[in-house]
Amino acid sequence: MTTTQDVDHSEQVLLGVFGRPRTMLERGEGCTVYDTDGNAYLDLLGGIAVNALGHAHPALVEAVTEAAGRLIHTSNFFVTPAQVELADRLLALAHAPAGSKVFFTNSGTEAIEAAVKLSRRTGRTRIVAMENAFHGRTLGALSLTHKAAYREPFEPLVPEVVWVPFNDVDALRAAVDDNVAAVFIEPIQGEAGVVLAGTAFLQAARDVTREHGALLVLDEIQTGVGRTGQWFAHQRHGVQPDVMTLAKGLAGGVPIGAVVTFGPGPSGLLAPGQHGTTFGGNALACAAALAVLRTIETDGLLVNAEKVGEHLQGAVAALGDPRIVETRGEGLLVAIQLTDEIAPALSAALERDGFIVNPVRPDALRLAPPLILTTEQVDDFVAALGRVLADTPQPSTQPVQEQPAEERS
Ligand SMILES: *Cc1c(COP(=O)(O)O)cnc(C)c1O
Repeated sequence: MTTTQDVDHSEQVLLGVFGRPRTMLERGEGCTVYDTDGNAYLDLLGGIAVNALGHAHPALVEAVTEAAGRLIHTSNFFVTPAQVELADRLLALAHAPAGSKVFFTNSGTEAIEAAVKLSRRTGRTRIVAMENAFHGRTLGALSLTHKAAYREPFEPLVPEVVWVPFNDVDALRAAVDDNVAAVFIEPIQGEAGVVLAGTAFLQAARDVTREHGALLVLDEIQTGVGRTGQWFAHQRHGVQPDVMTLAKGLAGGVPIGAVVTFGPGPSGLLAPGQHGTTFGGNALACAAALAVLRTIETDGLLVNAEKVGEHLQGAVAALGDPRIVETRGEGLLVAIQLTDEIAPALSAALERDGFIVNPVRPDALRLAPPLILTTEQVDDFVAALGRVLADTPQPSTQPVQEQPAEERS
C-alpha cells in the first residue's frame, strides 16, 4: 500500500477526533522520521514536545529494553527502584524543599486531574485559570481549558472555574480571594501559540496565592524537562509553585505524567485511598524517564536547547521576510508569528519539502523539536522556510486551508 492508501485506511478504523492524519510514519532516527513510502522528514515538532531525545535514541532504547526484560509493571501495592529513583531525581532537579512528593500518572491530563482533586482537599472549590489555557481533555482538565469549542459540547463540567487574562496582574489579584483553592498557570502557553508568562506575573501569582492560602499550580507538561533550556520553565523566574504537573517530554515518548507537590502542606492533602492509578509510575515508564533525565544531563541538552533555540530564532528573523512579524519562545519551544493566516499553507509546503512543523494558530507556526537538534539542521529548515515563503502567494490570493492544528493535541 502507498502512504496515501495507508492514511485512507486509517480513517476507516480510527475514531475521527484528530481529523485526517498528515501522513503515516513508521520509523525514526535522531531528528528524522520516515513515512511508509520511505520519505524522510526533519521532525521539528517532536511529537508535540514529547520526543526529547529524538527517535530511537540508543540510551532510551537500551533503558526500555532492559526494563522490559526485567519488570514492566507491578500494582501500586508495591514500589520499584526505578519509581523511587525517578521521584528522587525530579525532586532534586526541582529544588523541592523537604517534605515534597511525587505522584506518577500516564499522561498530562491525568496529572491535571490529580492536581484538581488535590486542590479540592483544601476545602475550597473555586479555581482560577488563564484565558487561552490548555490543560487537557478529560472532564476535570477540560473544565480549566479555556477554548469554548473544546468545552461547550461537554458541559456541564466542573463548576466554579474563573478565567483571567494571561499576564494581567491586576485581574489576577482581583480574582484571588480566600475562596480560591488553586490558580493554574502554564509558564508558557504552548497551545495558545507559545505565549510567555512574564516574571512579574508569575511572582504576583506566587504572592497572591500565598496571601490567600490558595495553591499555585504550574502546568509544565509542555515546558518542563529541559524544553526551555531550564529543567523547568519556572526556574528562570525565581518562583516556586506548590504543585507542578509534568508529562510530554518526561520519558521521551513512553507515556508518563507526574505531579510534584512542594513541601509538606501540598504533599499531605491527598490521603490514602483518595486517588490512584493502575499504570501510573510503572517500572518501564520510570526507567525511560530516568534515561531521558540522565541523557539531558550527560549530553548537555539544556545548553543545547538554549543555544540551538536562539540560533533558530535569529536565523528565522534574519530571513527578513515581511510576513514574519516575530519569533518568540524559550529554548526549543518557539513560535514564528506571521502577519496573515498562512501557517497551514506554509506547514503543508514545508512537509512536502521534508520538514514537520505545527500551524498552532492560523497565523503562527510552532516548533518543539527534539532537544538534540543541531544548528545545521536549523539552517536546513530556515533555508526551506525561505524557499516556501518565496513560493507562497500573498494572502489576498491564498485560500486559507482549514487545518486547526491544536485540535490534534
Ligand atoms: C499536552 C498538554 C496537556 C495534556 O496532556 P495529555 O498528555 O495530552 O493529556 C496539558 N497541559 C499542557 C500545558 C499541555 O501542553
